[in-house]
Amino acid sequence: MIEAERPLGLYVHIPFCEAKCAYCHFAIDPRRPGRPRQERYVAAVLREMAGAEKGLADTLYFGGGTPSLVGADLLARVVEGARSLFAAARHGGGHDRGQPALFQLFV
Ligand code: SF4
Repeated sequence: MIEAERPLGLYVHIPFCEAKCAYCHFAIDPRRPGRPRQERYVAAVLREMAGAEKGLADTLYFGGGTPSLVGADLLARVVEGARSLFAAARHGGGHDRGQPALFQLFV
């Protein structure tokens, strides 16, 4: 019996916060990002995804940082990019690259 391919979980780090908490050791930049900076960051994330080894994914995590400091439309761009590059696996087993499927999203 061939074991089914186990779907990936994708993690996208959003490195922006409004301030650096004293106890925090995450890689963040404590300056609220303006729209041009948000767009540059999202473009870089999409380039990195395009160059990554491909596989099936069923989960997309946004961590940070403070993901809500990035515009919802830009986060949606990341979700769409991930869906097109990592054909989302169907929940409950199996997958079909021709069928759009949803990621579980965690922020
Ligand atoms: S990631 Fe969380 S703990 Fe760290 S600086 Fe930002 S808000 Fe504070």
